[in-house]
This record gives sequence, C-alpha cells and structure tokens, in this order.
Amino acid sequence: MTKVPAGRHPLRVFVVLIALLPPSIRVLPDLVINQIAAGEVVERPASALKELIENSLDAGATRIGVELLAGGIKRIRVEDDGIGIAERELPLALSRHATSKIATSDDLERVASLGFRGEALASLASIARVTLSSRRRDAAHAASLEANGGSMGDVSAAALAEGTVVVADELFYNTPARRKFLKSEGTEFGHCEDVVRRLALAAPDVAFTLSHNGRRVAQWPVANAKERIGAILGADFAEAAVAVEAGTPPFSLRGWVALPRYTRATRDQQFFFVNGRFVRDKLIAHAVKAAYADVLHGERQPALVLFFDLDPALVDVNVHPAKTEVRFRDGHAVHRFIQHAIGKSLAAPVGADAPAVSESERFLERIAARRMETASPAPYQPRFALAPGVAQVAEPLAAYRTIFGENQRDSPGENARPANDLPFRREPHARADEHPLGYAIAQLHGVYILAQNQRGLVVVDMHAAHERIVYERMKAAQSRGAMASQPLIAPLSVALGERDRELAERHRGFLLEIGFDIAPLCETEVAIRAVPALLPGIDAPAMLRELLDDLARHGQTRVHEAVRDELLSTMACHAAVRANRSLTLAEMNALLRDMEATERSGQCNHGRPTWFQFGMNDLDRLFMRGR
Ligand code: ADP
Ligand code: MG
Repeated sequence: MTKVPAGRHPLRVFVVLIALLPPSIRVLPDLVINQIAAGEVVERPASALKELIENSLDAGATRIGVELLAGGIKRIRVEDDGIGIAERELPLALSRHATSKIATSDDLERVASLGFRGEALASLASIARVTLSSRRRDAAHAASLEANGGSMGDVSAAALAEGTVVVADELFYNTPARRKFLKSEGTEFGHCEDVVRRLALAAPDVAFTLSHNGRRVAQWPVANAKERIGAILGADFAEAAVAVEAGTPPFSLRGWVALPRYTRATRDQQFFFVNGRFVRDKLIAHAVKAAYADVLHGERQPALVLFFDLDPALVDVNVHPAKTEVRFRDGHAVHRFIQHAIGKSLAAPVGADAPAVSESERFLERIAARRMETASPAPYQPRFALAPGVAQVAEPLAAYRTIFGENQRDSPGENARPANDLPFRREPHARADEHPLGYAIAQLHGVYILAQNQRGLVVVDMHAAHERIVYERMKAAQSRGAMASQPLIAPLSVALGERDRELAERHRGFLLEIGFDIAPLCETEVAIRAVPALLPGIDAPAMLRELLDDLARHGQTRVHEAVRDELLSTMACHAAVRANRSLTLAEMNALLRDMEATERSGQCNHGRPTWFQFGMNDLDRLFMRGR
C-alpha cells in the first residue's frame, strides 16, 4: 500500500492510484462518442449552421429561414419547407450514423446530397439543447422531439406547416472548454453569415432570409445564378465579371470570374463549388492562381464564383468531416482543365466584348448626376464629330516600326500590309465598324490615345496596352523557341558586380533563349553581343541589370515557367512605349490593330485596364442631349 503523505486529499490519492494501474480498453459511452464527433463537425456556431442548412437543401426546401441569437451561440434556428421527417423517424434523425441519404458503400462513391455521414444532428444534440420539429407533406400533424446532452425526450405533437424546424440552444453549454474557444458574438456571426452566403450562392433557386438578434440582415428571393451573385457579392463584382463556360456535363466549369481590375486583398471572394459543395482546396486554389498569373501580379487576390461539376465517382468528398476538402481521382486533369477554362475567359480579346464599358458608364453616370443637380439645360451643341483633317493624315508605317518594332508582322491584320494600303488612309467612317477599337483621332498629353469607333469614344493607355502586346508576343515567340537574337555590330560592355556576373554566367543559356547573348569580358565586365530581335532600340544594359535583379530575387538555378513569364513581363514593361512619346495617327492605329489581335490586351501585365469605351449614349447623357 502506498503511503499517503499527510495533508493529501483522498480523491487525489485515488487519481494517482488509477494512473498507476494498467489502462483498460473500454467502449466509450454514446455521449462521449458524439461529443468527439462534434469536435470535428461542430467547431463553432457557423459549422452547426452549415449542417442544418445543408439538411434543408437536401430535403428539397425552396425557402430557408435562419434566425440567430448572439452570433449563434445562444440560438440557431433553421426553418425550411422541405419534405420533412416522419414522426416515427424523429429519434433516428438525432441518432448517430443514421441517414436517409446513402445505404451502401457503393452509394458512398456517388454521393449526390450535401450530407451523408448521418452524424450532424447527433453531434449537435450532444453539445447543445436541440429541438427538432417536422411535418411531412402527407402527415396529419407535426411532431417534435427534444434532445439534451445525449438524452432524448419523447416525441410529442407540435404545430407546424409542412417542413422542418431545428432549434439549437446554448451551444457547448456542457463542454465549457470548447465554449471558451468561441470568439466574440460579432465574429461568430460573421462566420455564420459567410456560411449562409456560400450556400445561397450555390442555390439561387431557394429563397433565403437571415436575421440576427431579431433584426433582418439578409433576404435573397429566388433568382437566377447571376442575380444571386450580384445580390450577394455586390454590383461591382457583377460588373467586372466575365463568364466561364467550359466542358460539357458531367464534366464542366460554369460561373463568373472578375477581370483583374476588380481584385481583393484576401481570398474572401473566391467561391468554388464542386458538385454544389463549397470547398477550399489547394489544387483548385493553385489552378486559379496559375490562371490569373498572367494578368495579376503581386499580392492582390482574384474574385470568382465557379461551379465545377463532375461525375461524383471521380471525386472523394469524404476526406474531412466538415466536407470542405475534396480529393480528385485525376488531380492533374482537373488542374489543367480549371486553369485553362479560367485563363480562356480572362484572355478574351478586345473585340469580343467591351469589358470596361460598365465602369465608364458608372463614372459618367456619377458625373451626369452631379451636374444634374447644378446645371441648367445644356445649350445646343454640334454633334460629336471627327477631328478635322483626320481622314487626310497619313504616316509612313516605318515610323510605327521604329517605335513598336518590326514584329507587327506576327499578328494578323492590316498593319502587316504596306503603308499605302492602310485602311484609315481611305475612308475611316465607312470602315469604323470593322475594328472594335476604331481609329485614332488624337493623342492626349502623350499618355492616352483617343479613338473613334462605332459606339463612340475609346481611350487607350498606350504604355499599358503596348506592354501587354510586347509581352504576349514575346511569350508566343518564346514558346515556339523562336525568340530570335539581333547581333550588335559592336558588342556593348557592361560593368557588373560579382553577384550579377555570376548570375549572368549561371543563366547564360536562359538569357540566350530570350535573345540576350552575354559573354564574360574581364573581372568586372560582361559583353552584350546580341539583344532580343523583338525589342529593337531598347536600353540593353539597363534591361540586363533588371533581369539579373529578378533572377537574384528568385534565387533558383533553373528558370521555371512562372519566373520566365515574370522576366518577360519585366522586359515588356521596359520595352513598351513610354509616356510623352508623341505618336502619329498611323502609329496609334497600328497599336489599336495590334491590341485587337492580342489576347488579354484588356489588361496590362499588372492587371490594370488598358482601355475604356465611352458610348455615344454616355456622352449624350453627359451633355444632357435629348432630354
Ligand atoms: P446526414 O445529413 O448526413 O444524413 P444528419 O445528422 O444531418 O445526417 O441528418 C440525419 C437525417 O435526418 C437525414 O439523413 C435526414 O433524413 C433527416 N433530416 C435532417 N434534417 C432534415 C430536414 N431539414 N428536412 C428533412 N429531413 C431532415
Ligand atoms: Mg446533414
């Protein structure tokens, strides 16, 4: 017998004794099992809410009402008009591993419902006071059942139209350790709101209401997908969004991605659904990032709502109890498909749509609205007309070549023709409809090109646009392995520090691949023997230094695709026409034609827009014509 030191509490002694005994294996009581499961499924009010709304959606509800008290900690109430639960099955619904959604392990391979594990309600009932009331469509009356920390009451009659109401009160009342991990009411409510938004985005055909502490916070009536997205993410997103439509069911990607002029500091507006289920998945996140890599550099995050559907047998949703992670049978194929589909939508060339229109419209609306408040009716104005003399102006194409390079021959279109065959020399008005970006009429302060097209006025940021064109051209040439070098008549010697000389040596092969032929000269200098043929007239030493800086920053021995693109982007920025360079109309028109023929030309390499369209209607409104 162990000697008990004086002053020790007998209970303490007992605990010590138990600890000394060899542990015996025993089956845990149901309550503990459920509480362990609850640890995974019900992490906080928002996760409980997610399970309840998913149950309502699985039950085919067309209306779902959510009421929360104190961020959901005090009460979560979810009401739906779904098929309901039969009175005799109410106790089963609250039991662990009881589900109506799958029956065999084969079913597990093809889960089409949001739930299937049969543990959400049981888990919830183990850590909260739950009341489940329901009425099936064919039932004479509703029934209700209370469960409380593992003990279940009796089924009793209740008053309810068809559907189901689940009330969960006092979350974690019997597991104080868990309760302590909850954040403030406001934070918990924020998480709940996120959950409702996600589920509502994927179910626009279901009406949702959300209230908090008795106040209505959101109300989304039945809508189509685009309307629902607009209602939840706001008009700014909807207006910057381009549609994604790729593949054919049962393997398809549908939805909207925001052009890079609409970005976020965080990933809070990235909604990706796999077979209707919101997921956060590394593979998908990577594919999204890769798709945007070309138009969005730096820290900004894209915004998107995408629905990826595929044969349920090709994806495992049973990876995590909260089911927010998935595992694809063929991850590579999925990655490629998603990246390509998003990339294609972002790359839509200029002519396909005028993505910037709505933004300029809103801008003009604001101006017009401001002016309406103060202005008297506008005096008569002559119709917006072509700048005088435009049709007569002609410049030799050679001028364009000196600035933009020889390579407009690469792109299809008229700029490849001899100068005397340029269309604008003849009848710009008659042909205006043939070119989405129209014809240049002027250059503004050496920065913007003004052009006239069928719809009205086009304003182009010439540096940004040219940068994108050069970049795309270099990428195309590079991928064909045809980034030709232009030997210099006299090699240029460049003084470089030790780090840079070493980098130039190490990456010599790569530099040659992109057109730079570099050879060591002496202890402190290298010679540039040839420069990229695509970039005539560049400041080669300055560009080389910048490239070496980029290479140093990445610190790799091999240049990967992403790094290569970044280097090409640096070169493009360097080579693009600078502000204050005055251009002739011929040069400006050639640039417009190049934009039309270039993918992704709506944004510069940094994601900023390259052009805006101002419609005649916009301008008329601005001048209050026709009012
Ligand atoms: P699971 O959803 O994984 O099946 P749950 O514990 O969430 O497990 O729910 C258990 C069962 O209770 C479901 O399979 C379903 O039959 C029934 N149920 C739960 N909520 C509802 C509801 N709102 N409407 C109709 N049936 C429901
Ligand atoms: Mg469920």
